[in-house]
Amino acid sequence: MNTQYTPRTRRIFLLIVILMFILTACTQKTAPQDSNISMKGNQFTNSSSREGYEPIAIVNHISDGSMDSMDNWFTNPNNRVSSAHFGVSRAGEIHQYVDIHRMAWANGLSEEGILRAEAEIVRDRPKINPNLYTVSIEYEGTDGDLTKEQFEASVWLHRYIQSEVRRIWGKEIILDEQHVIGHNQIDPLRRPDDPGPKFPWERLYHVLKNGSSSPSTG
Ligand SMILES: [Zn+2]
Repeated sequence: MNTQYTPRTRRIFLLIVILMFILTACTQKTAPQDSNISMKGNQFTNSSSREGYEPIAIVNHISDGSMDSMDNWFTNPNNRVSSAHFGVSRAGEIHQYVDIHRMAWANGLSEEGILRAEAEIVRDRPKINPNLYTVSIEYEGTDGDLTKEQFEASVWLHRYIQSEVRRIWGKEIILDEQHVIGHNQIDPLRRPDDPGPKFPWERLYHVLKNGSSSPSTG
């Protein structure tokens, strides 16, 4: 038997379809932007406004512990001191704690600290907290000796951050020695071994400058 729909019923169906489409489009904006990333941040994760500053550099850090302890610490109500945008596990999983629109509490400095920084990009901005214009990545581990999976996830994540900054702010983070740095270059006194003596800087710069993998190809 043929079901006959009145024009009114058809209009309601059409409206529902349109509403579902709009709803899907809206949720996609707030959900983790990419399936490679699991959002782990919660209401206890520390973050603040970027106060109008745009990200111009990516900072690499060592978490000095396991991925579980990183997840725990960055979502813990007792943590009133630190956070990061992303964490990369030794298995190559990427966790996100802070939305890239906001600043993480990852590499803040006093005004005297800024003058002692090694990174030019920091010393060139003597009155500005480096958290305001950076995106931070933490790595599971203790010495920066990344696993193969972790290194590949790191390369993907650097390119992903670059593409997100382009999408959101219309600006280009150049993936070179001046704009991809370690916490040790921001705070050499208190964080001399962050992201670790074995962090593969040379290999990372080489792939970021010459490699072909991009967020769209995974
Ligand atoms: Zn650090």
